[in-house]
Amino acid sequence: MRLGLVLGDQLSFDLASLAALDPARDAILMAEVEGEARYVPHHPQKIVLVFSAMRHFAQALRARGWQVHYVELGADGNSASIAGELRRWQQALGASEVHLTECGEWRLEQTLREAGLPLVWHRDTRFLCSREAFARWAQDRTQLRMEHFYRGMRKRCGLLLEPDGSPAGGAWNFDNDNRKPLARGLRGPFPAHFAQDDITRGVVALVRLRFSDHYGELDGFDYPVTHTEAQQLWQHFLDFGLAAFGDYQDAMAEGEPYLFHARISAALNIGLLDVRCLCEDVESAWRQGRVPLNAAEGFIRQLIGWREYVRGIYWLRMPEYARLNHLGNTRGLPGFYWSGQTRMRCMAQAIGQTLRLGYAHHIQRLMVTGNFALLAGIAPPAICQWYLAVYIDAFDWVELPNTLGMVMHADGGYLGSKPYCASGRYIQRMSDHCKACSFKVDQAVGEDACPFNALYWHFLIRHRAQLSGNPRLALVYRSLDGMAPARREGVWQRGETLLARLDAGQDL
Ligand code: FAD
Ligand code: SF4
Repeated sequence: MRLGLVLGDQLSFDLASLAALDPARDAILMAEVEGEARYVPHHPQKIVLVFSAMRHFAQALRARGWQVHYVELGADGNSASIAGELRRWQQALGASEVHLTECGEWRLEQTLREAGLPLVWHRDTRFLCSREAFARWAQDRTQLRMEHFYRGMRKRCGLLLEPDGSPAGGAWNFDNDNRKPLARGLRGPFPAHFAQDDITRGVVALVRLRFSDHYGELDGFDYPVTHTEAQQLWQHFLDFGLAAFGDYQDAMAEGEPYLFHARISAALNIGLLDVRCLCEDVESAWRQGRVPLNAAEGFIRQLIGWREYVRGIYWLRMPEYARLNHLGNTRGLPGFYWSGQTRMRCMAQAIGQTLRLGYAHHIQRLMVTGNFALLAGIAPPAICQWYLAVYIDAFDWVELPNTLGMVMHADGGYLGSKPYCASGRYIQRMSDHCKACSFKVDQAVGEDACPFNALYWHFLIRHRAQLSGNPRLALVYRSLDGMAPARREGVWQRGETLLARLDAGQDL
């Protein structure tokens, strides 16, 4: 017989390794292991999500006739690692071959490849662009740009195209219609909620017992853990969120963790949703006149553009990508990233909801917590580890390029053309946080001045050699050069003070 391994982020019925096996004579192995749950202090809700969804998936596979060997975390003999479990079960069952689908994480794939087992690898066909196809696309390009990749993917997938192959609506990208600032009193739809069943309650109790040392709250876990529930979450977004997704993609609001975002990343990343179906649903919603084109295009761009692009870069450049540090940052991560205790209202809101829900939407990750880490010169491994630990949807292949490349510019502009650095004014324009903040967003110097302002100029001044030649930063360097010397000195000193406080372990 042959043995198939199904990992916690591979819970798809059409997984390539399942398709290659025969339920009548082969068996499946699924294992909850300490090593995977602990290699960073994952948010407790992420551990619940993965273990509960695994247990539900094992049940569903059995109902389809598969023989599933499922190893629970506390089971006798659990060797605490995926490679250990695979070896143990391959020997016990006398399996002649072990079938696997490509892993999401380089670290795990490398360990398995070196495990000395009779492995048969299968491509992860759940992604639209294979590792090899991405490498071919990237070959001979000195600069990779998401927009070029995305246009190719639109054509290849036949999404949002006119009959002659041109883009629907006459443009590939409708970002000019998107990114509206927060409208007064704007509220997102009521979030979908999924009640815990007996399986999930059992996993919650296990995680409470075994992972109480991890950051993040466990109460209130309400994520979908089955394919049916994930589909309901998706339908909820199609009905109530998608139409305004484009317009308010970049907005942030007090007490509104989701606004018009789909909250599907965790379900998608572990295999409960299928990216092709999502894109087809979005296109149909637009063709039926239920959502505007800027929303449909903006959403599809996230899925077949950004998501596939960052995965391609990850597999193209690992493992050396994880070691890049173009700006030479060395600062440790401030303690308030783990506690949420800071006077900075935007940071407290983003970190607070992260600890509570394991979720923050893209702009909070990019322009608040990410922007602060960039401006403050946090060492890339420290901030990458944080993002990998605290988000329910975090997997290395998607977290690392987003954090190291997009946020920290640590790859020197390989993934994106410029660092997403911004002062407090950006956060003021896109949110209502500054009104509720004890810092003054219109000030750059003085004890009550918004820390983002001085740190923004400090960042530009200290990295002039690396950044001033970037044409996309020419305007900001011109305004820096036009600044009165006394003011420039003032913001530099305020920046120095703030960084010294971080180095002394003080909160801001
Ligand atoms: P929506 O805003 O509704 O977007 C829809 C979907 O598009 C998402 O579910 C996601 O699958 C995809 N998507 C959107 N932007 C990106 C992107 N930049 N990269 C990849 N996919 C994207 N996403 C993860 O899935 N896991 C991570 O570990 C992760 N880490 C991130 C770290 C940083 C520093 C940043 C800036 C972004 C990160 N993202 C990550 C991307 C993005 O923030 C999340 O996918 C998104 O916030 C998930 O919420 P949502 O489902 O409501 O997304
Ligand atoms: Fe954030 Fe500054 Fe606005 Fe406060 S004033 S919420 S720190 S941007």
